[in-house]
Amino acid sequence: MNKIKNTSGKILETYKNHLDKGLNIGAEGNISVRVNDEEIYITPSGINISDLDQAQISIIDIDGYVKNKIQPSSEVDLHLSLYKSRKDINSVVHCHSQWASTLSCLRKDIPPFHYMIAEFGGKDVKCAKYATFGTKELAQNVLKVMRDRKGCLLSNHGQICVGNGLEEASHLSLALEKLSKQYFFCLLSKSNVILKDEEINEVIRLFPGYKSKR
Ligand SMILES: [Zn+2]
Repeated sequence: MNKIKNTSGKILETYKNHLDKGLNIGAEGNISVRVNDEEIYITPSGINISDLDQAQISIIDIDGYVKNKIQPSSEVDLHLSLYKSRKDINSVVHCHSQWASTLSCLRKDIPPFHYMIAEFGGKDVKCAKYATFGTKELAQNVLKVMRDRKGCLLSNHGQICVGNGLEEASHLSLALEKLSKQYFFCLLSKSNVILKDEEINEVIRLFPGYKSKR
């Protein structure tokens, strides 16, 4: 029981923290955590974040079967498809943060304009093709741009980040919001400079988690 309380409590704390930081308003966004390959804890559908209690976090299995009678977020397919496609993902954070949403409406991939883009696993952060929220089509579009990445934009919608745990996914959602704001202002200038392939590849090589590092 302790573990259940801990996971739900951590999700609630992070979700409220994102509300305080302005990443979401109302009941926007959703957060999930995978526990021991068996259960996924996910924020519920349609409850204002400020009213949410940790007993209202939904618990489901990998096929979406609800284990505690609490209806999961409408984006449950988005979360489940990411867990099914990658063993390294144990947490998913989706939000409608201002600057990432702004870039998503411009349908812009974020190039290596800043070296910290490498935190997302490659030389860019892509913008997934548009599909209606909550659909399997949206989940498929996100999978296509997240094969070897830890974050992406969702066209005319917002952003999604993943991590090996909640802490990483939450951190990356804040990092992507920061980079989105910086890139938006760079787009206003004709003189912004994008890093060369060899420059960003060197950063990727130096970053923790680089696969061929021994
Ligand atoms: Zn959304």
